[in-house]
Amino acid sequence: MTSDGVVIVGAGQAGFQVAASLRTEGYEGPMALIGDEPNLPYQRPPLSKAFMTGKQDIESTALRPLAFYESHRIELVTGARVTGIDRVARSVSLASDRGLRRSLRYNALVLAVGARNRTLSVKGAELDGVCYLRTDAEAVDIRQRLEQARDIVVIGGGFIGLELAAAARGLGKSVRVLEVQSRLMPRVVSGILSDFYLDVHSSQGVEIALGVALSEIAGKQGKVSHVVLGDGSVFPADLVLVGIGVVPNIELARDAGLGVSNGIVVDEHLRTEDGSIYAIGDCADHPNPFANPSGGGRARIESVQNAVDQAKCAAAAIVGRSENYRAVPWFWTDQFDIKLQMAGLSGGCGQVVTRGVPESRKFSLFYFRDGRLAAVDSVNRPGDHLAARKLIGAGAGITPEQASDLSVDLKTLT
Ligand SMILES: Cc1cc2nc3c(=O)[nH]c(=O)nc-3n(C[C@H](O)[C@H](O)[C@H](O)COP(=O)(O)OP(=O)(O)OC[C@H]3O[C@@H](n4cnc5c(N)ncnc54)[C@H](O)[C@@H]3O)c2cc1C
Repeated sequence: MTSDGVVIVGAGQAGFQVAASLRTEGYEGPMALIGDEPNLPYQRPPLSKAFMTGKQDIESTALRPLAFYESHRIELVTGARVTGIDRVARSVSLASDRGLRRSLRYNALVLAVGARNRTLSVKGAELDGVCYLRTDAEAVDIRQRLEQARDIVVIGGGFIGLELAAAARGLGKSVRVLEVQSRLMPRVVSGILSDFYLDVHSSQGVEIALGVALSEIAGKQGKVSHVVLGDGSVFPADLVLVGIGVVPNIELARDAGLGVSNGIVVDEHLRTEDGSIYAIGDCADHPNPFANPSGGGRARIESVQNAVDQAKCAAAAIVGRSENYRAVPWFWTDQFDIKLQMAGLSGGCGQVVTRGVPESRKFSLFYFRDGRLAAVDSVNRPGDHLAARKLIGAGAGITPEQASDLSVDLKTLT
């Protein structure tokens, strides 16, 4: 493709969605969707859940079959990396896996470049058997290694680490989770949920160590054999799974002179300071009406919801129907038989009330910021989650007393 049109960099959840939504919006022009991974765009959530537990095959994670891209006239270029943006010429340069280089002109450019795993910097981090999960190829590799492994150490007690721990334990493996902070999922959930998940994992036989300092990963003949902590404790490990967060891919934007902070900086229409360049999904540092105002009211959100809704918003803006991005954030995680669904953003919330009791394994936490409902985390209570999305979106005036009273029907409050 050489003609001007929309060029989308990154063929993940957000990149796929903006391409699909541009056609739904009636955009008829040329479009290129460029991704550096070799396969069709796919969903990442099943990689640590249904795929890892053997309930879903890897092929079915594809978002659409190849025929979709052909019928929607989306030029899908896989195995190609965008290496630079020339904002004056309005073009991007590409280098493909096959060594081909070319440039592509754009009228509108969408950066949907996502994030990459943060990596360990301790001694032994490069040993065979120290694995990270972001891509389908990494998921397939980990799944195969899990079959052979006996002692698994998971470094990081966040969503990905705990989902992998649950999957590995479900396969009957010995699993130990090491978390540097004093509680599980500290960045995103309250202490009540951290304690609940500690109990869930412990009751399933996952060993959890909190507040630990990793000293080194030891190996034999290039392959991992032990994990060593700062206090001298040594744990056997023939597989180490690392889930210590991600860093946004900002370099392309930064090198093009665009503003970057906790991601690529965009306005409420997901536009960068260059009016023809947008950034969406995991890489976008955006104004979010649900974020803590005293934290600047901005957010960078790593979720499917955010990737999909920002893609729809950017597609509308490209065809001239700009609207402010104001979708209610939501997220989920599956660990053992527990589904946690989260709505809103709980940062800066001073008051938390419980609806139901954690012992029943069906309860919700309602977070209030300055007296207003800001977020709800629901454990095995999908009805609360759906109601919460509406309540938060509508800015409904629910009180903490109403939230904790099981006799109050949340649906009647929206
Ligand atoms: C294992 C796992 C489980 C998850 N589970 C959940 C869940 O349960 N619920 C939930 O809401 N979210 C979950 N997430 C997060 C969710 O998948 C992400 O938020 C979402 O994929 C973000 O989409 P994106 O398009 O912004 O980024 P990505 O999906 O990361 O896509 C970005 C793509 O751009 C490519 N790229 C980067 N730079 C370039 C370049 N210069 N040229 C070409 N291509 C480039 C990348 O390689 C990548 O393919 C999970 C993520 C992982 C890894």
